[in-house]
Order: sequence, then C-alpha cells, then structure tokens
Amino acid sequence: TVIDNTALGPAKGGIRMTPTVSVEEVARLARAMTWKCALAELPFGGGKSGIIADPKKLSDKQKQGLMAAFGTALRPICPSLYVAAPDISTGEEEMRSFVTANGAFHSATGKPSTMHQGKAHGIPHELGSTGWGVYHAAAAAAKHLGKDLRTMTIAIEGFGNVGSFAAQYLTEAGAKLVAISDSQGGVYLPSGLDYKKLVKIKKDEGTVAAYGSGKKLKNGEIISVPADIFIPAAQADVINSRNKHKVKAKIIVQGANIPMTYEVEQELYKKGILIVPDFIANAGGVISSYIEYIGGAERDVFPMVQERIVKNTLLVLERSAQKKIPPRAAALEIAQERVKKGKKKE
Ligand code: NAD
Repeated sequence: TVIDNTALGPAKGGIRMTPTVSVEEVARLARAMTWKCALAELPFGGGKSGIIADPKKLSDKQKQGLMAAFGTALRPICPSLYVAAPDISTGEEEMRSFVTANGAFHSATGKPSTMHQGKAHGIPHELGSTGWGVYHAAAAAAKHLGKDLRTMTIAIEGFGNVGSFAAQYLTEAGAKLVAISDSQGGVYLPSGLDYKKLVKIKKDEGTVAAYGSGKKLKNGEIISVPADIFIPAAQADVINSRNKHKVKAKIIVQGANIPMTYEVEQELYKKGILIVPDFIANAGGVISSYIEYIGGAERDVFPMVQERIVKNTLLVLERSAQKKIPPRAAALEIAQERVKKGKKKE
C-alpha cells in the first residue's frame, strides 16, 4: 500500500492484483488519487495498493484468502489512514473478504449491496456512476464552448462499464452516437446508432462490431471518425504519436485513464482541441465510493456525481481559458491549492 497524501482525509484508492504490479506503479496511481479526490472536493487523500499475484492461476478460494490476509495485515492503517476499493482483478467479492477479515465496515468501498452495517450498505461498482460522470463532463465541455449536446455527434472507444453507461446517458440526453468500439472492432454510422440495439448485439454476438448497418471499424480506427466529441473509455495511450494527426474531434473527454501521453495531450491542446482530463472526467466512481463510505444510499450517488463533475469541469475549463494553460495544468493547480489548504488545517 502506498499512502500518498492524507491532508484532506484518509487515503482512498483501489487494490489491484496483477503479476507485475510494482511499488512505482502503485505510487504513481496513489498520487493520481490525491488529485482526483481533491478535484472532486472529497474529504479523501490519495492511496493505492497492489498484490503481486496472477489471478488466472489462483482458485477463487486462494484469491479470497489473499484478500483476507491483506485485510488483516492492513488493520493498523485501514480504515484510519487508508480506505480500499476494487481495481484491476478485484471486485465486490474481494472487498467482502477484505472487509470481513479487517473487521471495520468502512475499510473498503465497492462492497456487495448485501453487506450491511446499520443503515450503511455496499454500493456496487456496476451502478454506472463513472459513465454518468463522463456524460456530465461532456455536457459541461459543450456548455463551455456555447454548444448544446443535442446538436453534437459522439464517438466512444470501449463498451464496458464506463463506455456503455456513457453511451446510454449521452444518447438519452439527445446526443447522436455515431461510432462505438470494443476490443473486437467497431462501427461507424453517421445517421446515429441505437443504444438498445447495441446492448442486444453486444450480448448476443459478443461485440458491437456486429451492429449490421454502418461501416465496420478496425481496432483503433475510431479515433479518426468525424465526431464532435471523442470519448476514450478503454485503454491507455489510444491516441499516440503515430495517430495523433488523425483526430477530428473538437472535444475529448477522457473516460479511460491516461488515454494519451502528456506530450500528445499538449499538442492536441495547441491545435485547439478541448480536453477534459481523466482525473476529473472519470471521478464518478470515487464520488460514489464516498457516498458508500458515509453510509449514503444509491439514490444519492447520481446527483452528487453530476454536481461535482459539472462544477469542477467548468472551473477547470474556465481557468484553462483564462490563464491560457492546458486543462490538465489548470486542474492540477486547483487540486494542489485544495490539498495545500487542507494541509494548513491539519
Ligand atoms: P471494462 O473492462 O468494463 O471495459 C473496457 C472496454 O474496453 C470493453 O468494452 C473492451 O472490449 C474495450 N476494449 C479493450 N481493448 C480495446 C481496444 N483495443 N479497442 C477498443 N476497445 C477496447 O473497463 P471499464 O471499467 O469500463 O474501464 C475503462 C477505462 O476507464 C479504464 O482506463 C479504467 O481505468 C477507467 N476507469 C474506470 C472506472 C470505473 O468505475 N469502471 C473509473 C475510473 C476510470
């Protein structure tokens, strides 16, 4: 476990289980959580944990055993200084094992909804709060440019937790989804894709590429379709030095973490593309964790995600425009100011 900062509250961050996770990787992610929580105005610091293990080579019993051992080992610092959550290869059942062994109900968020303590209960990750936040970050960016989402076209890379919910909320709000992809390819249809049909196709055929009408896209081609807003919601570095010149979007909302390097982000900014950085756009998940942490209900999640993301996205974009600095730099400034202010109060 790396605890990066606790000036605003206990360090918050997930536990990832991969064979290659390192202290350096965990430390970078912990720092990112410090800024993400500060930008979302949550009374949390930044932290992260890694367990070096190959989940594919473990039986479920072994995996849960590891989580339980980890929960016990962290008792001296968790939940007083660190509050855990799911991350790569850990989900609600892993949080159950961790919390049961730790003994403190608030030692982790992302618990199953069936776990209770008084009125407090787990809030599942599958609620769609991150996609809801990405939708509001896109709406705020459009507003910042004086545009209305209902007149805009969208392309989304990824149809998982973040991408599918973002697609649902954006289309419900009247935006036109013209392209979508997953790991097996994608589809581009200028007249607009039907969200419900996409869900059915993904369920029946395993990929959104089987949509039927429209142009099939190969892996990676989605970044170059003509759409006003591009939302990366899958992997890191989808826009890179080889393909950056192909981007046609006017707005990029980073649903995925680090979907491009900082150098590429700077270049696109200089070309006039409005970029909402990952640590503000995808903060819906951690905001929902906060509601779970304070014993709130699922119905409290969406209004708070909307309020925090709209307000802070606009704040970041306004400061970026005023000071003529990239949105990431503006976002970092705001987050750092808040952490410093928290530190003074300590
Ligand atoms: P997920 O596993 O649910 O979905 C990932 C999606 O990406 C899948 O549809 C998969 O098919 C697709 N994909 C994989 N490789 C692809 C490729 N080469 N081209 C196109 N699509 C590809 O994951 P998720 O939870 O939706 O997370 C997506 C990103 O968002 C990650 O960067 C994650 O760190 C970030 N994120 C997620 C959350 C959350 O609450 N789930 C919160 C913050 C950030």
